[in-house]
Amino acid sequence: MLRLINGASSRVSATSSVPKRSFHGGYFSSTSGKPVPMFINGKFVESSSTKWLDVPNPATQEVVSRTPESTTAEMESAVKAAKEAFPAWRNTPVPARVRIMFNLQQLLTKHQDDLAKIIVEEQGKTFADAKGDVFRGLEVVEHSCSMGTLLMGETMENVSRDVDTYSYRQPLGVSAGIAPFNFPAMIPLWMFPMAVACGNTFVLKPSERVPNTSMFIAELAKQAGLPAGVFNIIHGAKDTVNFICDHPDIKTISFVGGDAAGRHIHERGTKNGKRVQSNMAAKNHATIMPDADRDRTIDALVGAAFGASGQRCMALSAAIFVGESKEWITDVVEKARSLRLGQGMQDTADVGPLISCASKERVEKLIQTAHDQGAKVPLDGRGVSVKGFEKGNFIGPTVITDVKPHMKVYTEEIFGPVLICLTVDTIDDAIALINNNPYGNGTAIFTTSGAHARKYQYNIDVGQVGINVPIPVPLPFFSFTGSRNSFLGSTHFYGKMGVDFFTQTKTITSNWRTGGVSMGVQTSMPLLGQQQK
Ligand code: NAD
Repeated sequence: MLRLINGASSRVSATSSVPKRSFHGGYFSSTSGKPVPMFINGKFVESSSTKWLDVPNPATQEVVSRTPESTTAEMESAVKAAKEAFPAWRNTPVPARVRIMFNLQQLLTKHQDDLAKIIVEEQGKTFADAKGDVFRGLEVVEHSCSMGTLLMGETMENVSRDVDTYSYRQPLGVSAGIAPFNFPAMIPLWMFPMAVACGNTFVLKPSERVPNTSMFIAELAKQAGLPAGVFNIIHGAKDTVNFICDHPDIKTISFVGGDAAGRHIHERGTKNGKRVQSNMAAKNHATIMPDADRDRTIDALVGAAFGASGQRCMALSAAIFVGESKEWITDVVEKARSLRLGQGMQDTADVGPLISCASKERVEKLIQTAHDQGAKVPLDGRGVSVKGFEKGNFIGPTVITDVKPHMKVYTEEIFGPVLICLTVDTIDDAIALINNNPYGNGTAIFTTSGAHARKYQYNIDVGQVGINVPIPVPLPFFSFTGSRNSFLGSTHFYGKMGVDFFTQTKTITSNWRTGGVSMGVQTSMPLLGQQQK
């Protein structure tokens, strides 16, 4: 069934057109137009919703599947399952929980290609990039296998005579995750493995645009041995998100996505007493110093600007050429021109389609504003066509030069295969420009000067800095530390901070007297730190 789809609101269709499908103990890809099940209490359950959202293949518009907007009763049953599973899961010894994460690690490794194929089909990115999407999530699962060490508290003996103090990290209960479309595997895997390894149970709402990857991960989590109710998946859009923000049994919300949703979820969730971590939009600048290694810098820049069609929150979307390095812009244009568009499974594809017709239209309009506001567009990727995939949401690599900070292509996140180029005279000008931008997700400097690199890393007000590293997404023993308008909350994803987010600390002070005399009744504040009799 082929359908052209123009935007989220037009993607709602009636139940009657949804082909029925039963789930015999598991969920497997891929019947065209199939309804996506939920995963509740260890079972794949078909929704009785009357509202469904089409999931079109971005390269063809063929409807891959249909996402339900889970009904309130269905969402309640998922939270109930998670709540009821919590006591037994919390009591499951940490090594036993970790052993399940090891199983999940093995299954994800074994099925990396299967997951990547689902990602190509529903998200559009190239197969190699989709495998990277799975791998970067897999690394968080591997990190969660260290939970035995990560969960340790602190101890000190003799804080007073016969008195010791020690702390435990304890799980909080039911956690929830709300994910974006651009990393269908990695971002759900940023969320639930750390949460459940800490002893929490979890309810995930994947992006309604790419639900099938999460469903396959649920199948693998089940095979890995996660008990029923520990991990659950519900579907939908705004109403599902508001349900999560309001539900009294949900203790934490992990969100990754755009600004509007992120601000809303942070505000509504925290108002309801929940812990919320909200990773949002970005404008990531590359600073190119004239002393940089020219060829390596151009390769790095082009890869990081156009990979995944620019649909990465850490894509380098704004290049600041310092001084003479502006001479290199023509090389950047030529290198970008050499990239090949294609459907994700084509060996030759460097750049796949955008997620939706609406995204394509939005990016094309933004490119037009650059023309209108006086920038130059030496490489304009609008109007391209890929043979055999003429209906795909393709835009070719686009380079915009002579950009000024007031222009719309600078003030808005483009989230497409577009690199905007600005020029400044000094590294100080570059730092000032970046620090003046509201976002603080990622940045990179290209230089061969240690002094320039040191100055940059020290003065730049951005959460993740690359020095000759174009996409400095930290490995999971560190945390993903976006800052300023790219993040709301107090504690970041994965790493030690991820453990902080998913646990609360209980501190115990104990007194096992080995002698001495009674202090009698003390009505003044006990002075533990002083020598007691
Ligand atoms: P999105 O905000 O449209 O959707 C993200 C999630 O929020 C989805 O599950 C969606 O159902 C829900 N949602 C959307 N609009 C909502 C609303 N008005 N109210 C409540 N819920 C809503 O984001 P997207 O288009 O899926 O993803 C792209 C965005 O995500 C980009 O802005 C990108 O920079 C950002 N992103 C950020 C990071 C990061 O770590 N900072 C990582 C990946 C993506």
